[in-house]
Amino acid sequence: MNDRPNKITDQIGHTDPEPRLLMGPGPVDVYPQVLRAMSQPMLGQFDPQFTGYMNEIMTLYREIFRTKNQWTLLVNGTARSGIEACLTSIIQPGDKVLVPRFGRFGHLMVEIARRSGGEVTAIDVPWGEVFDANRLEEALREHKPDVVAVVHGDTSTTMAQPLAELGALCRQTGALLYVDATATVGGNAFDLDGWQIDAVSSGLQKCLSGPPGTSPISINERVEERVLTRKHVEGGIRPEGFVDATGPIIQSNYFDLPMLMDYWSPKRLNHHTESTSMLYAAHECARVVLAEGIDQGIARHALSSRALRAGLEAMGLELFGDVQHRMHSVTGVYIPSQISDGEKVRSEMLEDFGIEIGTSFGPLHGKIWRLGTMGYVCRKANILRCLISLEAVLRRNGFAAPVNAGLDAAYEIYNDA
Ligand SMILES: *Cc1c(COP(=O)(O)O)cnc(C)c1O
Repeated sequence: MNDRPNKITDQIGHTDPEPRLLMGPGPVDVYPQVLRAMSQPMLGQFDPQFTGYMNEIMTLYREIFRTKNQWTLLVNGTARSGIEACLTSIIQPGDKVLVPRFGRFGHLMVEIARRSGGEVTAIDVPWGEVFDANRLEEALREHKPDVVAVVHGDTSTTMAQPLAELGALCRQTGALLYVDATATVGGNAFDLDGWQIDAVSSGLQKCLSGPPGTSPISINERVEERVLTRKHVEGGIRPEGFVDATGPIIQSNYFDLPMLMDYWSPKRLNHHTESTSMLYAAHECARVVLAEGIDQGIARHALSSRALRAGLEAMGLELFGDVQHRMHSVTGVYIPSQISDGEKVRSEMLEDFGIEIGTSFGPLHGKIWRLGTMGYVCRKANILRCLISLEAVLRRNGFAAPVNAGLDAAYEIYNDA
């Protein structure tokens, strides 16, 4: 006799995903140390252990970004939340914002800057290219922006915009420079102070090899000064006698940097509840990257992307985009004309070999696949697995890559390293 009513849990079991190798443009496989860190017990947000970890996060991410900036902290949410916190706090209604746009995430900045009330001008290069310094200088002189917002590495096109000169140009013309370094930090050179960048945001799920869900950011004193002119503190936590600043209120409460700064300062003025498990993750991601050494990590990304690219070319495939400016963390490759359905190749890579590779957006949709070599994934065994699997799938779909040529070319790069 079983008269137990049907329970929903009879139909919906535990999440128990088949393991994958994530070789797309993110998210990527998470460092095992980070997964372990995330399973640690909750702490209250004002527990001295927890506030101690918050302070350590500030120290760790100063190293990651290469900065002395006091205000180096986490915004809770995916990488986009860090972009939004920076832009919406920095841009005042009516500010002139210049966005050099070379891929999908440039479009996102235009969108967020407009919603923040900025008068946005975008300049464009075709996807697969980056801006040269002269073009940026011209645009700065012509538009005289208050804020320049640019992506460092845009995963949609696999390109990395050189930034070393842009910061100095912005200082000369009085603009603040914000950079989205989500896809580059940890796998490509990035030097916040050296490049005179005023604000940066990132995410965990690219070269830092954590889960998506928190966004490390850093702002310098120029930005601090500007956002504090807009400081308002919400009722209920407002210290007695506090007087709002006279600048226009920041439109978002959640992404209000001055309030976040109070939460991350010794004042510990409560804002949101810091996402505990994500803080553990961010803490361990930074530790893993710094224990390896930033330069060593970048060299590992450079080597494995070189091996992957040599392998793809030896298979007879053509790489996408400006050779000089490719990120180490993601590679674009044209879908060969013999392949009628690029999505079928991707799904066979996933279903038959457990390897995820990336599709593309916008003007590149249906034209290229994107292969990520980020963080924990970025290692020889995975590059070789990916190449030999892709060879097998391509062959089954009518593209006769020469036998083992991809593998041999990649081996050669590793053997010479
Ligand atoms: C991947 C990526 C993001 C991701 O944003 P999410 O909010 O984490 O999805 C943002 N910016 C760039 C440049 C990226 O490559």
